[in-house]
Amino acid sequence: MDSASASIPAAKNLVLVGGGHSHALALRMLAMEPLAGVQITVVSDVAHAPYSGMLPGFIAGYYTYDEAHIDVRRLCQFAGAHFVQAECVGVDVSSKKVLLKGRSALAFDAVSINTGSTPRMDNVPGADTFAIGSKPVPALLQKWNSIIARAKSGSRQSIAIVGGGAGGVEIALCMKRRLGDQGDVTLVHRAPEILETHNPKVRHLFSQLLEERGITVHTGEGVIEVRNGQLLCNSGRTVEADHLLWVTSASPAEWIANSGLKTDTNGFLLVSPTLQSVSHPFVFGAGDAATIEGKPRPKSGVFAVRMAKPLLDNLRHFFNGEPLRAYRPQKEFLSLIGTANGEAVASRKFLAWRSSLMWQLKDRIDRKFMRKFEDLPLMPGMAEAPEPASGARTDSLADEVSELRRRSQMRCLGCAAKVGSSILTGALDRLRSERSDSPALALLDHAEDAAVFAVPGGMEMVQTVDYLPALVDDPLLFGRIATLHCFSDIFAMGALPHSALATALVPFASDTVAGETLFQLLSGVVDVLEETGAALYGGHTAEGNVLALGLTCNGFAAPGSTMEKSTPACGHSIILTKAIGTGTLFAASMRLKARGRWIDSAIASMSLSNLTASRILREYHASACTDVTGFGLAGHLLEMLRPLRRIARLDIEAIPLLAGAVDTSSGGILSSLHRQNSRAMHGLETPEAISRHAAYPLLFDPQTSGGLLAMVPREKSSDCVAALIAAGYPETTVIGSIDDAAPAAENAALIRF
Ligand SMILES: Cc1cc2nc3c(=O)[nH]c(=O)nc-3n(C[C@H](O)[C@H](O)[C@H](O)COP(=O)(O)OP(=O)(O)OC[C@H]3O[C@@H](n4cnc5c(N)ncnc54)[C@H](O)[C@@H]3O)c2cc1C
Repeated sequence: MDSASASIPAAKNLVLVGGGHSHALALRMLAMEPLAGVQITVVSDVAHAPYSGMLPGFIAGYYTYDEAHIDVRRLCQFAGAHFVQAECVGVDVSSKKVLLKGRSALAFDAVSINTGSTPRMDNVPGADTFAIGSKPVPALLQKWNSIIARAKSGSRQSIAIVGGGAGGVEIALCMKRRLGDQGDVTLVHRAPEILETHNPKVRHLFSQLLEERGITVHTGEGVIEVRNGQLLCNSGRTVEADHLLWVTSASPAEWIANSGLKTDTNGFLLVSPTLQSVSHPFVFGAGDAATIEGKPRPKSGVFAVRMAKPLLDNLRHFFNGEPLRAYRPQKEFLSLIGTANGEAVASRKFLAWRSSLMWQLKDRIDRKFMRKFEDLPLMPGMAEAPEPASGARTDSLADEVSELRRRSQMRCLGCAAKVGSSILTGALDRLRSERSDSPALALLDHAEDAAVFAVPGGMEMVQTVDYLPALVDDPLLFGRIATLHCFSDIFAMGALPHSALATALVPFASDTVAGETLFQLLSGVVDVLEETGAALYGGHTAEGNVLALGLTCNGFAAPGSTMEKSTPACGHSIILTKAIGTGTLFAASMRLKARGRWIDSAIASMSLSNLTASRILREYHASACTDVTGFGLAGHLLEMLRPLRRIARLDIEAIPLLAGAVDTSSGGILSSLHRQNSRAMHGLETPEAISRHAAYPLLFDPQTSGGLLAMVPREKSSDCVAALIAAGYPETTVIGSIDDAAPAAENAALIRF
């Protein structure tokens, strides 16, 4: 979390649903001028949102993935907003909650919807099943990558595109350009002419272009049914192709109308000129997802971009209790449609100008727009958010924030720094009501001040404690990662998880904001406890400057059944179950130097429980096992080797690395713990070539919720790796072996290459 949002206590929650063009720009502006006193959470189903203006150019191969996508995760960090990667499935307008697929709902004081649109596919039988829509874009790009791969391997591909608007025509030209002789492209359009919303000269220009490029065009053909590889048209014509793409008129997500929000006749969120829902003024909407009452405009990225500023201004006014201002969208706009040969056609009213200059203009505009999201300065001002000038605002938010500031300055320490009991009770009540049948919460109702439980007869109790400040800003995700991290020692020992007591540190904020943070945090904890078969027995909370979580974890084990870490057997193979690199990646993320997708894969790795891996390693008779955490791979391996002075031979090439970890570490971005960890170097015998290897610094990289490191009999190691991969640990690898040789002499290096 950036210090701007941390320095002013949050009094209200704003949830931005969708990382579309309007929200992306609004976030950029928020970084420059924060919305003081408001905790902003962005919900997006993707970490990298495609930029529509460059999408056809990306398909044609003119732009790279990063050039054509907005890194929403990184942008949120820049803006001091929490990023929650999840799909919104509805808004509960009565309890003011955003409903998410597969995770707890998010409470809000205001919500803004900028989730775009998808082509309508439900009105033609078979379209949903046999064709792929131009949106969601990630699915389209996945399909396109597979088409390209097949074409590259020499197999000629045929594509039929339904929809002859600007999107369909541009995609047709770009796909043909990229496939060349390896592809046939056909365009099918319902109206008598393509591009019917553009002037006749533009239509003529593109009709000629399509013909010149060998693209077959069928106009006046409405598709009435789609079958596998076939489009059936109302004239009786059948168009056959290997791949069917759907680029027809925009349609809204069904959840908007299903949420009880008033919509236009097509189901788009109906908003007033202030961009507020006409039925629920605390719901805002922008971009394709919304239609302004009395001022409908084409569903185009141009409008989504233009709406960003009025949307943000009105959100500010809303929270500050000021009158909102009407936004008047322009009626005409200049379209620049690429022709996939270094030219573009400028289209506006009666203008039709095809020229390379127009492509240069379009390219310059698009690149300039995207630079706003790529070049994110670490502004000195980010550290200190501007204080609301005293007496400058008399609205309710300003009053609430100044009251919170006053209270935050007067906050007592010791026991008085605890989160208020009503906040805790509220969060726990909500957990109980939303997850009434969760076994992880079954004992919480009867909890005493201290946990009391019986250790089953003949068993031993295994107990561990760990604590970490949040490294991701989504409290639920952090709760999950922290719980897995804290339980990791229990898993590594092969004990049966039983229970946990939580110590939660929640940033000082209003009761509503702190309560929501605590609820989300505990939801993440409970998710893991449920999967693990353990229960939450109680805990304590406190207010702090940052979100943090500690857990005391309990497990049971039959005497002598636990896996120990310091007993690696001679000749055994060394297995690592997860890739390494979280330390450098999150250090880079803090400096806005990590790509969102690198952080995505690091999060996926950290969110993976070590429980099953531990069971498998036990089945394969691991002689020793530990989890890789703060000391890094080398530090933890040395811990395992030292007691018996065993020697490990590591294969540096085999060590699995998280995507981006080499980029960030070789760029000199290392975790603050790295320097201390690299003191372990004296325990390594490192040839020159190894010390220059790109993976070498990562041996000392501290891991959060890292994988298990275990020694398994050599003859069983391939089967063990296969079993771990099949169980969902795809990065599992044999990274070396324990020497058969006699123990190393005192002070001799224990890790060799
Ligand atoms: C092929 C093609 C080319 C185009 N070219 C142009 C062009 O050159 N210029 C132009 O102005 N317009 C163009 N358009 C139109 C343009 O794509 C849209 O009008 C524009 O993207 C709308 O922007 P938006 O911000 O409303 O939504 P989007 O850009 O669609 O962004 C919405 C975001 O919300 C996310 N999201 C969606 N649903 C959910 C959910 N339930 N939960 C969480 N997140 C969600 C999506 O992943 C996405 O990142 C083109 C369209 C197509 C199909």
